Amino acid sequence: MTTAMNDIRNEAGVNIDPREIAKFNAMAARWWDPEGECKPLHRINPLRVEYIEHHARLRERAVVDVGCGGGILCEALAARGAHVTGIDMADAALGVARMHMIETGAKVEYRQSSAENYARETPAAADVVTCMELIEHVPDPAALVKACAALVRPGGDVFFSTLNRTPKSYLFAIVGAEYVLRMLPKGTHDYARFIRPSELAALLRAAGLELRNTCGIAYNPIGDRYSLSDDIAVNYLIHAVRSA
Ligand code: SAH
Repeated sequence: MTTAMNDIRNEAGVNIDPREIAKFNAMAARWWDPEGECKPLHRINPLRVEYIEHHARLRERAVVDVGCGGGILCEALAARGAHVTGIDMADAALGVARMHMIETGAKVEYRQSSAENYARETPAAADVVTCMELIEHVPDPAALVKACAALVRPGGDVFFSTLNRTPKSYLFAIVGAEYVLRMLPKGTHDYARFIRPSELAALLRAAGLELRNTCGIAYNPIGDRYSLSDDIAVNYLIHAVRSA
């Protein structure tokens, strides 16, 4: 459980849980290992790129990826012709992202910044904002959603993905992934921070974002396959548009 003591937002007005950042820094070296802790991110990445591209244009568009980590999504979006800036607070993860970009020749700009600070620096400058698997790691999800809304231009697209708070997500994302399959280190996720689609929808509305679509990412352990699905009980994607 995260306590208020770990939320430096309370002390410095920053929406960051330092224990979360330390956790992601600690695994940074294995970020691009397809069999490492980020295996689920690698597996679902083609699905989320497909989803984003289905709902928004990417070619020649300015994209900000909030909480980009080692850059798995950033590189894939850049490969589709987007001008991508990845921001994250974990400096080791950003270091890995920059190294990887040199290896692959991808063109991404990486910045150490919080969504809130970057939105103050470059308000309404992005055509598309993506924020994947981050909202469940911050002390104040509403502030993060507001910052994402502030980053995108009116009429621009915002995408979130996160974990639903259901018995099934507890079973799959925590018991299954952390304990049975040992795919993720224990403590990667805090069930209390998972967000129901209805709760996220309310945060979107409060931030001036119009919900356009919700889509599940289902995992079938039998075929060991992920797919876009109507089943939003565990992992889901949301597309919203900033009101003009
Ligand atoms: N979005 C990436 C990585 C998800 S892991 C992907 O889906 O592929 C979550 C990432 O969010 C980590 O890199 C972590 O360092 C970052 N993070 C956690 N709290 C943050 C915060 N308050 N501000 C910015 N980044 C944060």
